[in-house]
Amino acid sequence: MATQFSNISDVQNDKLTPFSQLAAKPQIKSDVLIRLGSFLQTSLDYQTLLSIFQREISSTVLVDGLVFENEDNNVSFTLGQLGVHCSNYQLKAQGEFLGELTFYRSTRFREHELANLEALMGTLIYPLRNAMRYRHALDQAFKDPLTGAGNRIALNENLVREMELSKRLHYDLSVLMIDLDHFKSINDGYGHLTGDDVLKAVVAQIKECIRQTDICFRYGGEEFVVLLNNANIANARLIAERIRMTVADLSIQTEKGPLQVTLSTGLAMLQMDDAPQDLLNRADQALYQAKHSGRNKVCVSKESHVITAQ
Ligand code: GH3
Ligand code: MG
Ligand code: MG
Repeated sequence: MATQFSNISDVQNDKLTPFSQLAAKPQIKSDVLIRLGSFLQTSLDYQTLLSIFQREISSTVLVDGLVFENEDNNVSFTLGQLGVHCSNYQLKAQGEFLGELTFYRSTRFREHELANLEALMGTLIYPLRNAMRYRHALDQAFKDPLTGAGNRIALNENLVREMELSKRLHYDLSVLMIDLDHFKSINDGYGHLTGDDVLKAVVAQIKECIRQTDICFRYGGEEFVVLLNNANIANARLIAERIRMTVADLSIQTEKGPLQVTLSTGLAMLQMDDAPQDLLNRADQALYQAKHSGRNKVCVSKESHVITAQ
């Protein structure tokens, strides 16, 4: 694969290389730039912006496809066909990293085409920066700031969506309601800051134990909900047990020495005529059962009756 690397940023540095005079100069019709600029003002969605960009530059440089990635923001977007030749750019706006943009084509990019592409990207950078900031702000609005788990708003939205999908596509949906055991005594004995560290550590462990498509939410203080799509009770119970054991094995370092924490879990699976709250209530009842039968265990709600799994 032929790869061409270069850097695009809003900072122009003419002294970068003494050979800059030899480099191909961009030749772009002004109406193309004006049109591109005005179209890029129309959206705050990065995918829409990249689609507009590819469409609008096609009269100047043809690209078969592109990939835009920003690992920190969980962004990986592919558009069009990925040819064997590519040109890769680290996009930055005033030092702010926006992502990595790679253009693909089945034929090699010529020098003057790259010069054009890079000049056109100058128009993309600030709209893309605004789109990435907007995306980040939206993400934050659905996140618990302490643990990075989804918040209640995110849970409500995701639960409704997952229930609809599960009913329409006929797959099982299970829910775990998880509550830390005797968490108040951790706060009392080690302080709230250590308590916060424990919450963060537990969420990190929960995320390690679930699939990428499963989502963890902070339901309240030291209570979490995990949505497990495509998981029946047996599958969900395995995951719940894995979470329970991994967290129990965790040794959290504190000023007062290592600290252990356990959790109790209630598990419920979606039934045909469930409303979102019905499912959560059944998981909560199973959690109550786990708490009142010794803690550090998983209890399963099977419709109206509860079975203890451990
Ligand atoms: P149980 O095993 O019955 O669940 O007992 P518990 O002590 O975990 O439950 P309880 O409801 O009595 O106490 C929960 C505690 O969680 C009390 C509250 O101060 C603490 N808590 C809630 N949110 C946070 C938080 O964000 N950070 C910290 N450090 N503590 C929190
Ligand atoms: Mg608790
Ligand atoms: Mg609680």
